[in-house]
Amino acid sequence: MVGSVAPKHFNVPKHRRFVEDHGITTTWYKAIVCPCRSRKDGSIDPDCNLCGGEGVHYYDPQDIIALYTSLSFEKPLSMPGFVDEVLINCTFKDEHEVADGDRFVPLHEIIVENELFKRGDTKPGGGTAERLVYRYPVALQKVIDVNENEYIPGTDVELIDDPAGYTRIINWITAGPANGARYSVRYQARAEFYCFLTQPRIRVEGNVKQVTFTRLRRITPLRSDS
Ligand SMILES: [Zn+2]
Repeated sequence: MVGSVAPKHFNVPKHRRFVEDHGITTTWYKAIVCPCRSRKDGSIDPDCNLCGGEGVHYYDPQDIIALYTSLSFEKPLSMPGFVDEVLINCTFKDEHEVADGDRFVPLHEIIVENELFKRGDTKPGGGTAERLVYRYPVALQKVIDVNENEYIPGTDVELIDDPAGYTRIINWITAGPANGARYSVRYQARAEFYCFLTQPRIRVEGNVKQVTFTRLRRITPLRSDS
């Protein structure tokens, strides 16, 4: 008879242990829409102090254990250049109420990226355009200009914080390339994932929170000056 089957109760302590044993350390940033965003047309202030021109303020970063499963690839239908094809299922312990828009930066996943810059370049709204696109760089590996001058990380060049608090602005300790000259940078950065149009599901049974499940998408951040 329909409805006569006893529910299979989710075992919260067992689930917590499973996430602890098989999950990985991840920095979780909660998201809130930045008040600089226009209610009329959604436009954002590129020089906003709160969000750094991203339109979303990320707050309360905390290192948690999250369980990643079922990595898959899929061509995105929207926003080319912003999200890439990596999708992954993610399960969190009962106390982590994640929401759509939240950002996740796992400790284990490192990207190696190359970027091209112009010395002294500025953004249309002011401020430096010598800024790495990835927000969580781990190390500068190589910095060279077209004249085969190589610049040593930590001696000639370093990364400092931008207004939104990400350590990714290129700061020249020594003179660096001539003003207007192009140079390229190879660096390591932590991969970024976030909930993107995938409303997380928080499972509750008998007033007891059980598990939060969602899909995350790996992102390539947009250059705000391009
Ligand atoms: Zn803002």
